[in-house]
Amino acid sequence: MYIESQREYGWTLVPERFDDKGYSAASLDRPALSRLIVLARRGAVDQILIHRFDRLSRRVRDCTALLDEFRLLEIGLVVVTAPEIGHTAQDNFMLNILASFAEFEREIIAARIADSRAQLKERHLRIAGAIPLGYDSDRRTKQLVQNPMEAEILRWMFVEAAAGKRPAEIATNANARQFRTKANGQWSARQVVATLRNPVYVGRFKDGKGVRPGCHEPIIDMNLFEAVGHALDSRRTAGPMRTSYGEVWLLKGKIYCRRCDRLLTSHSCRHGVIVYRYYRCRATSGGRSPCGYQVPAGRLEAEVYLHFPWRVRRDMRSDQFRDAVVRMEYDPEMDEIVVLWRETES
Ligand SMILES: [Zn+2]
Repeated sequence: MYIESQREYGWTLVPERFDDKGYSAASLDRPALSRLIVLARRGAVDQILIHRFDRLSRRVRDCTALLDEFRLLEIGLVVVTAPEIGHTAQDNFMLNILASFAEFEREIIAARIADSRAQLKERHLRIAGAIPLGYDSDRRTKQLVQNPMEAEILRWMFVEAAAGKRPAEIATNANARQFRTKANGQWSARQVVATLRNPVYVGRFKDGKGVRPGCHEPIIDMNLFEAVGHALDSRRTAGPMRTSYGEVWLLKGKIYCRRCDRLLTSHSCRHGVIVYRYYRCRATSGGRSPCGYQVPAGRLEAEVYLHFPWRVRRDMRSDQFRDAVVRMEYDPEMDEIVVLWRETES
């Protein structure tokens, strides 16, 4: 229609419309826009007419890149809802402002979405994501409602785990009984663990690294859930060799520096996914300067770990590990470890 009004200036339509309906202008990766750019580069376009500026691109940087390209190709740009815009410095300034507003608008929308997520959280509602086994999504409210058949499978799984069955065994048994995952697949040990750890079954939701309350009906009793959690924890703590993924300080508060008789402190640093842990003498208590050295945590923890027969090691819990040591001393000069063990019956 706008083109009709400009016909006296000799405007004609190229036969194609470049319409990215359904694609967000947040991205330049849109089929019609790509076609338009190809056509423009071939010299087949003199003027580009857009309805609203933010339909071109909502990112200032993308906009500027596009406009630069159009300018190099000597293509005019007309925004129907804005006054005629050419390629002078002032116009560029104007375009940038328009683009900034478009971007600002997009951020406002993003903020609004974040807001409504926060509100859902506050009201203990489910936000989005896969529906866990044992539940279905209510068609109207999108909240979790129990699926009685699947809830039975879950209860069975938790009871097995509480009875001491290993996740791999549970997976095998579940598959033998034709139990399926929510995605209708076979069970793996990993999926069993993920299921047994999912707080959704005690009426909560995972939230980042923590948990938030939900408003759905729990399937598993809290005591059972916690017992299973402990059982899984104790399996995982096979010893300090396997705890390198995180900050587990099995001997913290028990290791003393032989040179200055002060407690070693814990220190870790991360390189990519690997966490390096050290115990070090960095304390300045008593007004003395620290010795300043550090020992890899694994070296000291291995001393304790290897003290136990492998049969014990395999199922040892972290508190057992810790309790076995009354005091440990590290001698930086001799690189020696001295351990005072707690007396045991065996
Ligand atoms: Zn020291």
